[in-house]
Formats: sequence, structure tokens, C-alpha cells
Amino acid sequence: MRVVMKFGGTSVGDASAIRKAVAFIKESYEKGNEVAVVVSAMTKVTDQIIDAAEKIISGADAQFLETFIDGLRKRHIDTLKEVAPDYVAEVSDHLEVRLMRLKDMLAAVQNLRELTPRSRDYIISIGEKLSAPIVSAALRQIGIPSFQISGCDAGIMTNGVHGNASALPESYPRIAERIGSRLGKEIPVIQGFAGCSKDGSIATLGRSGSDYSGAIIGAGVDADEVIIWTDVDGVMTTDPRLILEARVIDSISFIEMMEMSYFGAKVIHSRALLPAMEKDIPVYVRNTFNPTHPGTLISRKTHADKRIVKAVSLIKNSCLISVTGFATGRPGVAGEIFSALADAGVNVMLISQGSSELNISMIITEEEIGMAETALKKVQESGAIRQYTFSSDVQVVSVVGAGMRGTPGTLARIFKSLGERKINVVMISQGSEVNVSFVVNGNDGIKAVRALHEEFQLDKEE
Ligand code: ADP
Ligand code: ASP
Ligand code: MG
Repeated sequence: MRVVMKFGGTSVGDASAIRKAVAFIKESYEKGNEVAVVVSAMTKVTDQIIDAAEKIISGADAQFLETFIDGLRKRHIDTLKEVAPDYVAEVSDHLEVRLMRLKDMLAAVQNLRELTPRSRDYIISIGEKLSAPIVSAALRQIGIPSFQISGCDAGIMTNGVHGNASALPESYPRIAERIGSRLGKEIPVIQGFAGCSKDGSIATLGRSGSDYSGAIIGAGVDADEVIIWTDVDGVMTTDPRLILEARVIDSISFIEMMEMSYFGAKVIHSRALLPAMEKDIPVYVRNTFNPTHPGTLISRKTHADKRIVKAVSLIKNSCLISVTGFATGRPGVAGEIFSALADAGVNVMLISQGSSELNISMIITEEEIGMAETALKKVQESGAIRQYTFSSDVQVVSVVGAGMRGTPGTLARIFKSLGERKINVVMISQGSEVNVSFVVNGNDGIKAVRALHEEFQLDKEE
């Protein structure tokens, strides 16, 4: 069997986690499986690199960069010494080259006070360049032949949208040739999160993009399964950090899971499942720290349980844009608005339009407010719209379940339970047959998630 195992940040976050990870890989390899491994950066490393770049651009002192690189070096070398004592000299050299590249790039940012999307991608992809050699050495330390390789060299070719790139189909034959052909003999440890773009630069796949890398590699090598190893027992009925009663879902369809992750379930990257779905490869989500738990199976099958609603998710930092006063007699105003936002790189998560075309409401993330404002100002200046407003203190709650399809009364149940708790709904959008999303004010988000978790008894076993 061909298996792709992806290990997230906490699953490679220290020596003890890496020892667990390599033990699972070894077990699978010794059963005769052909295994490919994809890794994230060690926990928090990507966040730290992003923070450092931001501090540097806004004028950190000269010592800051030295101290930052020293800290990264110490953490990685200390871990390497523990998990692969026989390979310290060889791997430290590799790590040093990468740390020096990172330092040079950050020094250039400091001098130029400029961080382009392309250089930012180069910088933030270094975390995986530091973790992969350590995991690969840890495998060699326990007698398993292994090599480490970048996503780019492994064959991932992207559309070059820096910061949020998507894989192109031409990646698959390249991955089959570069990775597939070597499976069984050695275990590749592939740096997650990034691939190439046509101009040869590195493009990252969006935050949490290593999940996506795992599925792209899975599709490229025609894997029989992809396992996402993380720090929770599986996909849960809601974010366990929000509600203690959240429960693990045994199985869920690709479509339901994609809706969940698009609307805030951070356990998996929102585009990660597309390559697996296209090739019908089952994806398991499992806990590195509780390996006896079977985890969640994500597959094509929809109605694995009889629940109407399977999960509720929440996006906190959202902004409601309301556009009014469309120019009369000017067709295509909605098109102008969405094109302007798309050109500015703004992702519109939800849309609701008044039937008279006199008003459109949209939801975006708070980080994109600045870009959206610039884009809408241009549309206003062109005379297409009169007014727009931004309300940033809103949250998006999303209800997911294939059982909602053709079950009358589900919407009534949702809104009745919100009404009973005096939660005011600002906007509603039924994205698909398996998803209903709505917008509430600031602090009502968690209250709404809790209400629906209770209403549909998601804390109870079937
Ligand atoms: P990794 O580093 O392994 O990729 P992430 O932190 O990206 O891990 O994703 C796992 C985390 O996602 C969990 O620790 C959990 O807090 C969070 N999470 C949010 N929503 C859900 C959900 N519906 N089910 C499971 N975990 C969720
Ligand atoms: N290290 C990257 C991030 O933190 C990718 C990942 O972990 O999946 O976003
Ligand atoms: Mg993740």
C-alpha cells in the first residue's frame, strides 16, 4: 500500500514528538508499505519568522536579527542532537546554510525596508527547510533509508500566487517521477507548505499549507491513503478550544469537510482536500499523541452517520461590508464590485444581495479591510456605487451536514434556537446544500456555536 503521512507543527515540535512520528513511519514501512512523509515547520516557527520579518521592517535594532537566528539555531540543533546523534555534523551544516540564507534575506529586508510577496514567501518557507532534514536524519538514525527534499524539487508546481498558491495539474506527473519512483526503497521527507512557481521562485500554499502539500503529494504518487497526523484525536464537531464537549467525528465526506475548513475549522487547510477528492484518496486525521484512537476518515461517502448537522464552526475576525446606492441604468455593477475586490486580492467569504440590486452585503476577513477599502473607493469614484460601510466586529458561524439536504425544518431549528438565546443574526447565506452560514455581532459567535452544538446534540454519540 502507498501511504503519505503528513506531520503538523506540534507533531515535529520537539524531540519527543519526532520520536513518535518516526516510530509510526517505521511501523508502516516495516509492514511493507511505500511511505512518503510531508512535514510542517516545528511548532510556532513560521509564526516566529513572520513576526521577526514584521519587526525588522518596522525598524528593529541591529541585535534583534542575531538573537532571532541564534534562537532558531539552538532549538533545531538541540532537537537534532537528541533524535539523530550520529548525523549531527552532516545535518548541522545543512541547517547552517539555511539559517544564513534566512539571515541574509532578513538583513536585506532591514536595509531596504521592503518585503515583497515573493521575498516573503522565500523567508516564511524556511521553517520547513529546517524541520525536514531533522526528521529525515531521525529516520536514518533508526536504520531507515531516507532523504529530504523541498516541495519544489518534489515536483509541486503552482500558479505562482504568492502567499496563497494552488497546485497545477502538471505537478502530478512530476511528483510521480521524482517521488513515486523512489518509494519503497527510501523514505522521502518532503518540506510542506511551499512549491515552485513558473518563474522559479518559491510560492507558499497559504497558512497551514502543509496539509495541502500532503494531499498534492498523495495525488501525485497515487497514494492509497493520506494520514494527517496532528494534535487532536480527529476532526471534531466544533473547535475543541471553543467548546469542551466537542466530540470526534468518525467519518465525514470531502464536501462537508471542505465547507468546515473553509468556514474556520483550522484542523485542515481549506483547499487541502481537493487533490485527494479528485483522485478519490481517503484522508485520515489522527493524533500523534494518542495513536490508539482511530481518528476521522474523510472520504467520498456522504451519509456515514444519520445526523442532520455534523459540525459547527466559527470565524472570529470578520468584517461585514455593505454596499448601497447602485447607479441606475448601469448593468453589471455587482460584477464591477467583485472584480475590483478580486483584483485587489480580497477573498469574499459570503455574499447576500437585495433583490432590487440596490444593496450587496459581503463578509471578508479583518486583515483584508485595507485592500477592500482601496478597491471600493475606486468603484465609488467610477460612479457605480454611492456608499459603502465596514463593520468589523462580526463573526461567521457555519453549520455543516450532508443530512441538511432535503431535511425540511433545519433552518427553522437553527434560527429558533438562536432566537431563544436572543442572538441577533445580521446576515444569512446558504452556501450549498450541506452548509448554512450566518453572521452575528462580536461576542455572540461562541454563544451561537454553543446553542447549535446543543440543539443538534453534537456532544452525544449516535
Ligand atoms: P497541525 O500543526 O498539526 O497542522 P493545527 O493547529 O493546524 O495542527 O490544527 C489542529 C488544531 O485545529 C487543533 O489543535 C484544534 O485546536 C483546531 N481545530 C479547530 N477546529 C477544529 C475541529 N473542528 N476539529 C478538530 N480540531 C479543530
Ligand atoms: N508552517 C506553515 C504554517 O504555519 C504550514 C503548516 O504548518 O502547515 O502555516
Ligand atoms: Mg495545520
